[in-house]
Amino acid sequence: MTIDQISITTTLNKKPKPSQDQVPFGTIFTDHMFMMDYIEGEGWHDPRIVPYAPISLDPAAMIFHYGQTVFEGLKAYRAEDDRILLFRPEKNFQRLNLSSDRLSIPPVDEGRVLNCLMKLLEIEKDWVPSTEGTSLYVRPFIISTEPNLAVGPSRTYTFMIILSPVGSYFPGGIRPVTIHVEEQFTRAVKGGTGMAKTAGNYSSGYQAQALAKKEGNADVLWLDGAEKKYIEEVGSMNIFFKINGEIITPALTGSILKGITRMSIIELLESWGMPVVERKISIEEVYQAFADGTVEEVFGTGTAAVISPVGELNWQGQKIVINNREIGEVSQKLYDTITGIQRGKVDDPFGWVVALS
Ligand SMILES: *Cc1c(COP(=O)(O)O)cnc(C)c1O
Repeated sequence: MTIDQISITTTLNKKPKPSQDQVPFGTIFTDHMFMMDYIEGEGWHDPRIVPYAPISLDPAAMIFHYGQTVFEGLKAYRAEDDRILLFRPEKNFQRLNLSSDRLSIPPVDEGRVLNCLMKLLEIEKDWVPSTEGTSLYVRPFIISTEPNLAVGPSRTYTFMIILSPVGSYFPGGIRPVTIHVEEQFTRAVKGGTGMAKTAGNYSSGYQAQALAKKEGNADVLWLDGAEKKYIEEVGSMNIFFKINGEIITPALTGSILKGITRMSIIELLESWGMPVVERKISIEEVYQAFADGTVEEVFGTGTAAVISPVGELNWQGQKIVINNREIGEVSQKLYDTITGIQRGKVDDPFGWVVALS
C-alpha cells in the first residue's frame, strides 16, 4: 500500500464551515474521512478517502458486544504562514499500535497510516481553523467488525480517521479547574487496560465524573485501584505537581495512559534544566506538602488543553486551594512554549512538528 494506492472519492456537497470560536468539541465533522479494512489472512487493505457518512455494520459486529476497539487523538494547527502542522503524529500511531496490542487488534503500518492522514488533511485543509487556540482534531480509531457473538478476537476490523474542527479550549483565557480525588471508583489497575486508549476506560468513569460534577468539580483524579493511595491521572489528562521546587509526575506503571503531552513536557523541562521526577506519589503526600506550604503548582496535561492548571483538589471532604487558583509560572511557560511550537511560532529544537507539504 503506497500513498498512490489510496482510492479517493470526493464529494461535491461540501458543508459550510462553522464559525471558528463557537464549536462545541467533537460535534462537527469535515467532508471526507479515511477508511481501510482488515481481514485475517489478507491484512489491511483497500485504503480509501470517501465522503464523510454513516457506516453500516451488522448488529452482531463484535465491537457492539465485547468492546474490541482503540482510538487516538491529535490536532492539526494552522501556522501564521498558512502551513498545516502536526505535533509528533508518529507518537500517536505508535501508541495506537500499543493499545491495539493490548486489545488483540492487529497492528497498522505506522508510517503508512501517517501518510494516509497527510493525504486526508491535504483534501480537508480548508477545515483547519486559524484563530488563536483553534485546531482540527484528528480521531483515528479501529473497530472490530466480524458478526459473531462468540467471545474472542474479531477476524475483521475497520480503521478510520475522522476530522473535527475545534474551538479554543480556554475561550476566556486559562482557568484553573476544581478536581475531585476519587476514592470509591477505580479507572484501571496494573495488568488491566489503563495504558490503552480503549472505549471501556472512558465509559467506566462516567459515574464517578457525574457524582463529582454534582459537587462542582470539573473532573476526577484517579487513585491506584489496589490501595487508593497513589495518584494516577485525571479523566483524559496526565498530572504533574511542583512541590518545593521539584516537578513530580506519577511513573508509568501500566495503569496510566502514556500521554504524548506528558512525554513532551518531561523532555522540555529536562532541556530547561528542570528534570521531572517520575515516581509514585501518594495523595497523602500532596496534602501533607500543602499543609507544609510547599505545593506550588498542579497541572493536568493532554492534547485537548495542553496544560490545564488545577486550582482546587477535593479529597475525603478536605479542600485545598492551589496557587490561589492562578496559573503557575512553570505551567504558563510550558503552555506558551508547547502551543507556540505547535503553531510554528516558537523554535522547535526537538523537531516535533511535521508540516503538510
Ligand atoms: C489521551 C489521554 C491522555 C493524554 O494523552 P496525550 O497524548 O497527551 O493527549 C491522558 N490520559 C488519558 C486517560 C487519555 O485518554
